[in-house]
Amino acid sequence: MQCGLCCNGALFADVRRENGDKSPLFSAGPRVAQPCPAFLADSGACAIYDDRPSRCRKFECKQLRAVQNGAKTAEAALRTVREAQRLTGVVENGLSRLGFADAHLPLSRRFEACQRAAKGGRMSRNDLDALADLQLTVHRLNLFLAKEFYAPDG
Ligand code: SF4
Repeated sequence: MQCGLCCNGALFADVRRENGDKSPLFSAGPRVAQPCPAFLADSGACAIYDDRPSRCRKFECKQLRAVQNGAKTAEAALRTVREAQRLTGVVENGLSRLGFADAHLPLSRRFEACQRAAKGGRMSRNDLDALADLQLTVHRLNLFLAKEFYAPDG
């Protein structure tokens, strides 16, 4: 409840239906973009927890697994979560400053749109400098998420 990284568009760009998935999340189609509409950001809860999709039921990040198998305390895992949230916040702020503030899109899509704008020559010199800093932070965030959250079979 204090994390939300697998629902808020930081770890994943979307939630996909699997065979036999009857979750109400897919009433409009087989793929729902993140941040997930069922994610309650204020509480960190899932509004359809009992009926959540198969992929949500199956996904266990490295932090959860480490706590479950005793390799890490919950407090240590939460510190890792906080660092990921901090880096995510830095990226969100950077994207917002460059005009890509649409919180309904996953972080990766917003960053891709920002990169396209730069390649298309639609950015000032100052914005290109800010983008260079943002690229470094996104790289750090991606490395951190890969090391600490994505499970090999997740
Ligand atoms: S359905 Fe629930 S568990 Fe799955 S991504 Fe959405 S908020 Fe998270």
